[in-house]
Formats: sequence, C-alpha cells, structure tokens
Amino acid sequence: MLSRLGPVVKASGMSRCMSTFFQEPLNFIGGKRVLPTNRNSSEDFKVLDPSTGHVLCETSSSGENDVDKAVASAKEAFKEWSETPALVRARLLQKAALVLRENVEDFAMMEVMDNGKPIWEARLDIWTAVDALDYFGSLAPTLAGEHIKMPSGSFGYTIREPLGVCGGIGAWNYPIQMAAWKSAPALACGNTMVFKPSPLTPVTAVMLAELYTECGLPKGVFNVIQGQAETGHLLCTHPDIAKVSFTGSVPTGTKIMQDCAVGIKPVTLELGGKSPLIIFGDSDVDNAVKGAMLANFLSQGQVCSNGTRVFVEKKIKDEFVEKLVARTEAMKLGDPSEDDTLVGATISHQQMDKVLGYVEGAKKEGAKVLCGGDRVIPENPKLSGGFFVRPCVLDNLNDGMTVVKEEVFGSVLGLLAFEDEEEVIQRANDTKFGLAGGVFTRDLGRANRVISRLEAGSCWINTFNICPAGLPFGGFKYSGLGRENGTVTIDHYTQLKSVYVEMNDLDVPF
Ligand code: NAD
Repeated sequence: MLSRLGPVVKASGMSRCMSTFFQEPLNFIGGKRVLPTNRNSSEDFKVLDPSTGHVLCETSSSGENDVDKAVASAKEAFKEWSETPALVRARLLQKAALVLRENVEDFAMMEVMDNGKPIWEARLDIWTAVDALDYFGSLAPTLAGEHIKMPSGSFGYTIREPLGVCGGIGAWNYPIQMAAWKSAPALACGNTMVFKPSPLTPVTAVMLAELYTECGLPKGVFNVIQGQAETGHLLCTHPDIAKVSFTGSVPTGTKIMQDCAVGIKPVTLELGGKSPLIIFGDSDVDNAVKGAMLANFLSQGQVCSNGTRVFVEKKIKDEFVEKLVARTEAMKLGDPSEDDTLVGATISHQQMDKVLGYVEGAKKEGAKVLCGGDRVIPENPKLSGGFFVRPCVLDNLNDGMTVVKEEVFGSVLGLLAFEDEEEVIQRANDTKFGLAGGVFTRDLGRANRVISRLEAGSCWINTFNICPAGLPFGGFKYSGLGRENGTVTIDHYTQLKSVYVEMNDLDVPF
C-alpha cells in the first residue's frame, strides 16, 4: 500500500550512520536502546537480509520483565504527554515528519535490507510514514468534544480523552508504515505506546523511536520491544495496556482479540484478505493492466489488500492478458537496492516455499502458468542465497481452487473471466475476507453501483492499493475491526467522557 504514486526525490539530509546501528540492542525503552533483561538464548532470533540470506542482526525475545519495563516507562510518560498541550504534541510530530523526510534514504535503505523490497518502494513507504506523522500531528489540536443543549439552561458536554498506554503489534510487510500508522494517531491523541515489530523486520521501528526522541518527544512516549508470539501475548495481557492495535494474520488476530477480551480492551485489527479486482470491458486496457500490477506486485505480492482475484470481462480478456504478461515479464528482478529493480526478495525462505507451494498446488488443480511462479537465483553472487520468486500470472482458474480461495501473500495474480455484472459481484463477495476491492471501468455510474455492493472496507475505482493518510483503511468480515488513517482513527485512540451540567435546583422527590 502506498500513500501516493510517482517518483520521490531522494533526500540529502544527514546520515544516520547505518554501520553503527547494529552495535546497540534493539529494544528501545525510556528513550534509549537497552538489552532485554531476562535474555534467554533459546529465545534469540536471527534477522536475515532476504535478498542475500545473510544475517543482518541478531536479537532476542523480550520476556515479562522487559514488557513490564516498557509498559511502566510508557505509563510514566503518559502523565506528562497526556497533559502536553495538543499544539505542542502537533509540533513535535510534525518535526518528526520533517526529520524523517530529510532521512528518507537511510530509512529506505534499512527497510530494503530488513524486508527485501525494492528501494523505489521503500522510499514511498517512508513517505507514507511521513504523511501519517504530518496528518495526525495536524489533527492533534482539532481534538474537541461537543456541547449539547439540555432543558432549562442546563447543558451537557463531551471530552475526548486519551486511553493510556496503547500496544502496537506489526507484521513484516510494511514495517515502518505500521510503526507510523499506529504511533502517529496514538501519540497525537495523547496516548503513549509500546510497539512490537515483527521479528522478521525489527529495525525501522527502532530508528523511528530514536528519531522521535531526537525530535524532542519525551522519553517513554514511544517504546519498542522485540519478540515473537509470546512477547506479543505478554503485551496484550499486560494489565496497564489500555488498547491493542494489531496488523497481521486472521489466526493471530483471533488470539489477540481473545487476550484483549479478558481485560475488556478495545482492539484495532488489520488482518488478511483475498480481494477482488473487477475489470469491465469498457476499461482503458493499458490502465487496467497497470492497475492489476499495482494490485498484485507491490512488495513481492506481500500486501494484505492485494486484488489477487482479477476478474476480467471476457470480451477484453485476450488483449488484457497479452499486455499483462508482457509487462510482468519485463519487470527487472534483482538487487533491491538498485534504483531500476522492480521486484525484490520475498521475506523468508519459508514464505518463498509457501508461495511456490501455492503455484504447484494450483498447477495440480488445473491452473495454467502464463509467467513466473518459480524461484530465481540471480547471477550476482551476492544474491545467490536470496529468496527471489518471479511474479506469476495464473490462468485457467475457477472460484473453487485453493489458490483462488486462500491468501497466498506472494506475487501470484489469478485471472478469472466473467460476462455479467451481477455474476461478478456475487463471485467477488464469495469469500470470508472483506479487506479491499477494485473496479476498472470508464462508466462511473457502474463503478459506484458495483462498489456499493462489494463487501469490502477499502475500495478503489480505476486504481488500486493507494492509501493516503486522510482516507480510512480497514476491513469488513474476517479482515478486521476498526480503521487506520483518516479522522475516524481518532475515535479508536480516545474515549469519550460525557458530562451533564445541571443549572437549576434539583426537582426530585427525595
Ligand atoms: P502474523 O499474524 O504471523 O504476525 C503478526 C505479528 O503478530 C508479529 O509481530 C508476530 O510476532 C505477532 N504475534 C504472533 N502471535 C502472537 C500472539 N499470540 N499474540 C500477540 N502477537 C503475536 O502475521 P505476519 O506473517 O507477520 O503478516 C502477514 C499477515 O498480515 C497476512 O495475513 C497479511 O494479510 C496481514 N496483514 C494485514 C494488513 C492490514 O492492514 N490489513 C497489513 C499487512 C499485513
């Protein structure tokens, strides 16, 4: 998901000295990098550069003591931060946005090494984080309650208050974006946060924490703990955590909701998807092809909102497929740090095997591979251990096949033909997921009619996967609860206090 399209000017700001970054531990508590206290070697994990397979760094899972310390630090900071004037919170978040802009290159390069995505995309991810900080910073001073008139001169009013210490848990496909999409609204509202990135991509959340501190945010306002499932569970069940915002898979989201149910804690859940992209016969075919690629091949296909079920009206399918395959095959795969690389590395060996397994399974069920779907070992010896999969287009599919029903989370685009509007709406909605959906057509009446019937939280007409900070993002059905981005996010990071002010003598029988 990108908050904007188009080239991004490379920033020329100060260098964050990446060579020394890994010399310090990756937990960030109370304004500094700290070692986990109950370090247990069995809980150590290695973080790989997906493009080389080499170890980028090692860290260990935070245990109960570390989670306690991080939450205590955030709880202490909440006293000051929640009382800090909203205009000051806004200035600090917008200063962080400015400094992040000046450091796009460093953050992007680190994201490339940690995640394997190509640098052009990593730069846009950093800009998406910049946008979130700017946007929610600018909303902070607008937070206000209502005045409600009551009989005989009495009145009521509401106060929008922060929740306290919020927990944030991220997936690995958009590491910096998730840290920013969760922390920016939480902090703007006066909350503090303990954030746990994915163990596969632990790095840029720590860089963001350092940047916040450099920009003057008080110590403890944003803390990072590293760890795996157990650390996440400890965070969700900590009695001083007031809310959890989670991005990840449906099974983990279910566990987190169960953990939070015990403490009656609100949750935001951004979960998986199997979204439809519907291309009508009157579309501009070149645009539709570009849209289908945007819907499938960002971040090596590891995008929750991807429109992986591409329904194409029969009368244009041949032309569409010919152009799609030619463009897909032309994408340069390889070193993600090079400016002209369009396809980087899949996050891990395990994920690569999973994606290849779905392609093999689809072939056995009768699918035809039009291109890609195989592992590539690039000629560059540096990349020989990388997890590269050639973007794949599958044809000859039907709605019952596994690859059409399940989330692959890789560059596997599935083609499905349709003839009729009513038919395609029924088929598009025939999934337990409801994250996203898209329509390509020149007929805006039809576009809006179809979108109004799609069971999906985030929809696009004549584009795909663009998520600007001002537009709410989130899913229906199994794809989640709550929203990120947009003013509605304020509701998810605040609670409303209602006050009745009686202006008259009480008229009661006591
Ligand atoms: P995952 O569910 O395996 O892990 C996500 C995070 O949860 C990680 O930080 C992990 O350590 C943590 N975790 C695991 N078990 C936990 C537990 N019991 N309690 C607390 N935390 C726990 O997901 P993933 O493999 O990292 O990411 C891929 C999934 O994320 C896909 O399904 C994708 O669709 C989804 N996703 C959704 C969105 C969205 O905005 N809707 C965005 C990106 C990814």
